[in-house]
Amino acid sequence: MKIAVSACLLGYNCKYNGGNNYNQRIIELEGKYELVPICPECFGGLTTPRFPSEIINKENVIKVISKEGKDVTMNFIEGARIAYNIIEKNNIKYAILKSNSPSCGVGKIYDGSFTGKIVDGDGVTSKLLKEKGIVLFTENDDINI
Ligand code: SF4
Repeated sequence: MKIAVSACLLGYNCKYNGGNNYNQRIIELEGKYELVPICPECFGGLTTPRFPSEIINKENVIKVISKEGKDVTMNFIEGARIAYNIIEKNNIKYAILKSNSPSCGVGKIYDGSFTGKIVDGDGVTSKLLKEKGIVLFTENDDINI
């Protein structure tokens, strides 16, 4: 069975700072499942390294803004669309996504202040995948599939 996984958790250097979020426990799922890496921010045309971005929710208008003040909302939306296309084409029903990320966060994300504060919410890609019925986990969850 195929499972989509945030590429940074698999050791790809696609994180905003050019590093990764390598996670041994997730890597060890390879063999049991076929892990399909996705990085929505790269899919959306953002460079690596890049300024970090966070979701800002003002009066129910949601935007994604980089730390340098650039509106990257469309990059995030495009990245989510491409990530879902890959998931759909591969008939994938589950994804393991990096916690707290403005793209990949599931249920919790940074609050838009760039201070490390966490609030309830989903990343742009996670929100789309949930709407499409994909079952989501973060790297911190028990993966019961
Ligand atoms: Fe990792 Fe997702 Fe950020 Fe890409 S967009 S670096 S996969 S958390």
